[in-house]
Amino acid sequence: MSKIIYTNPAFLPPIEEYVKYLEKAYQRGSLTDHGILLDELEQRLKKYLNVQDLQCVTSATTALQIAIKALGIDGGEIITTPFSYVATTSAILAEKCTPVYVDIEPDFFNIDANKIEQAITPQTKAIMPVHIFGRACNIEKIEEIAKKYDLKVIYDAAHAFGAEYNGQSILNYGDISVVSLQETKLFHTVEGGIMTAKDPYISRQIDLIKKCGHEDENFIRDGINARLSELHAAMGLANLDHIDENIEKRKILSETYDELFENSVILPKKQQNLNYKYPYYVIVLHSTEQRKTVEKALWDEQIYPWHCYSPTLNTLKYLKTTQPCPIAEDLVSRMLMMPLYVELEKADIERVCDVVLRTVKNA
Ligand SMILES: *Cc1c(COP(=O)(O)O)cnc(C)c1O
Repeated sequence: MSKIIYTNPAFLPPIEEYVKYLEKAYQRGSLTDHGILLDELEQRLKKYLNVQDLQCVTSATTALQIAIKALGIDGGEIITTPFSYVATTSAILAEKCTPVYVDIEPDFFNIDANKIEQAITPQTKAIMPVHIFGRACNIEKIEEIAKKYDLKVIYDAAHAFGAEYNGQSILNYGDISVVSLQETKLFHTVEGGIMTAKDPYISRQIDLIKKCGHEDENFIRDGINARLSELHAAMGLANLDHIDENIEKRKILSETYDELFENSVILPKKQQNLNYKYPYYVIVLHSTEQRKTVEKALWDEQIYPWHCYSPTLNTLKYLKTTQPCPIAEDLVSRMLMMPLYVELEKADIERVCDVVLRTVKNA
């Protein structure tokens, strides 16, 4: 029996390393609220990610909602991508805003910035693009449009932990950026999220919102509870001790895929000005039929890729209107997320590629 291969199971640090951090919180006698581990995690992340200011919250979904609130967006339209995890849209809906979908570009699968202007109406308040699979959106163009039309930009940088664009953290772009720290992501706290904002006033609003607007004896504004507990922070600290070696391992595995897949399947393009951190590995097949055949062949070998982000968000049944996004719909039907995690060896990648390449050749 060869080993079962999943897409992206969580990285778990040795339990004794997790417990060692947890003991510090136990000694203090409290597992949340003004946490010492949370403080340590935020300080270390700020340094590691090289950002001015950063706050941890309970999830990226909550973070996207807090971002909308913190920027004072109270209803209206938010331009976003059809190609993401459903949370990008659900956060918009939860804040009583209307998602307006702009199709993606085929090189990196991000929102096509050249099509954003056409989608702007007097009701447009913000743009919420996603750096999908950790590759940068067309940041320059998005910035230019935001300035021209006075729109806020909230980056769903859920996949972009550690990514650097033009030599600085990708989280420095836009009004607010949000990273997911959910356990299937590159770096995690089991559940959790990171928020970064450039403007100190907005950072202050984020801080207030995440603690119900309650500070000392004062109730300053409306908000919710999005405090990250010490249990989560302990997991973050334990994982942070392994992040560099994990990224290095993922880089080697991804490069093995690159070599073996060259010219046989469609791969996202490389970005010269991006310091990429290998959060995911996706391939695009030549047809929906071929994707299904490859998927089935992998399942037969107990290899479980993920037909990710299907259906596209513009086709969610509970939306009030359907907006076509033909490029995203086509790409999603042909895309598979391949296994990528640190427990895999080069030989496992070779086994996966062998099945894919054999199937593609015969199909
Ligand atoms: C995982 C993910 C989210 C949601 O993150 P949570 O921390 O699980 O709430 C949002 N957007 C994208 C693109 C994601 O992949």
